[in-house]
Amino acid sequence: SGVMGGLTAAHAADMVKEDDDQAKKLAYVADATKTKNTKYVAGQVCSNCALYQGKAADAAGGCAFFPGKHVAGKGWCSSYVKKA
Ligand code: SF4
Repeated sequence: SGVMGGLTAAHAADMVKEDDDQAKKLAYVADATKTKNTKYVAGQVCSNCALYQGKAADAAGGCAFFPGKHVAGKGWCSSYVKKA
């Protein structure tokens, strides 16, 4: 998957893509408001999920479910856990 990163992205983690195997398993979307998943509750986004490794204001950050990649801060997946 790193092959497509290109030179300019060499130092940034690859973004998770919605058609990645793990993303499909977890019903990940880069824009939470676009999901049709029945588990989704309005207001849930990666940046307020307990598993998000970026800061709340970051556009993207790591996620425990996607090692070595970044998820969108405004993304969402079906394993969302509200940050305590
Ligand atoms: Fe986003 Fe949380 Fe799902 Fe990771 S577990 S992709 S941070 S909603």
